[in-house]
Amino acid sequence: MKIAILARNANLYSHQRLVEAAQARGHEVDILNTLRVTLNITSHRPEAYYNGEKLGVYDAVIPRIGASITFYGLAVLRQFEMMGVWPLNESVAIGRSRDKLRSMQILAKAGLGLPVTAFAHDPKQTDDVIRMAGGAPVVIKLLEGTQGIGVVLGETEKSAKSVIEAFRGANVNILVQEFIKEAGGTDIRVLVVGGKVIASMKRTGAADDFRSNLHRGGSAELIKITPEERSTALRAAKRMGLNVCGVDLLRSNHGPVIMEVNSSPGLEGIEKATGKDIAGKIIEFIEQHSQPGKTATRGK
Ligand code: ADP
Repeated sequence: MKIAILARNANLYSHQRLVEAAQARGHEVDILNTLRVTLNITSHRPEAYYNGEKLGVYDAVIPRIGASITFYGLAVLRQFEMMGVWPLNESVAIGRSRDKLRSMQILAKAGLGLPVTAFAHDPKQTDDVIRMAGGAPVVIKLLEGTQGIGVVLGETEKSAKSVIEAFRGANVNILVQEFIKEAGGTDIRVLVVGGKVIASMKRTGAADDFRSNLHRGGSAELIKITPEERSTALRAAKRMGLNVCGVDLLRSNHGPVIMEVNSSPGLEGIEKATGKDIAGKIIEFIEQHSQPGKTATRGK
């Protein structure tokens, strides 16, 4: 097969591992810098160019689109889909997962466990949103944040209020959430590929940090998840329409709650914590499922 990886940094561990795993199975792989792909949006004949040359035919495309270039990255991926290239994750599904609020609405509608969450546009509603989230302590999150940046714990009513007002003053959208204290600064990352859980790890934040992000100095270890956690992760992946994703869960008093569904999960932390060949499993899934022109995306 001929596989394209849309990624900005070819040297990242995850991208290198995908290339290695594909080549080990006899496939040809090109890493294309997403921002260097140009699109020719012509009637009946969608084309893409790379460094001035028309791109040839690929059997599959692996989108590894960073959050900061979501808009352009999804336009490139959509073009590949319209050219009949099978995407590992579809542009529409990635777009859905990138919007925290939209994802939570979809998951809540499916009856999946989530922290009690409130959202309001009007700054005058500050007291109401804190109350809706169950009262202090609450977690206040930037809608557009990643890697734990913009996730703040408002321990008292007063501090929660001033954090919300500060964010509002900066004109950014925020969510206010019930604080899952019992998670104890740990979360669980469940990696789903093709409707199956292939690995899980527990992440623990740096000392005194309630955020468990590895980017914030946390550590990871292998964990055995419960049947309820497994089914929550699988249903979340299905609802979001993602073939490959990392579902982040917290263990709460009211069962597993979903933090986020990540459509470009990093492979380094989870491969090292579990010793599993996850890149290999992803390539195997592509071998079994890629089919030219097979995409639900019709430009909607
Ligand atoms: P990001 O997408 O920036 O990583 P998250 O929403 O995943 O932001 O939050 C980062 C981390 O903060 C989570 O992995 C979790 O450890 C902690 N956290 C976030 N929300 C809550 C919450 N409501 N209760 C307890 N801990 C939380």
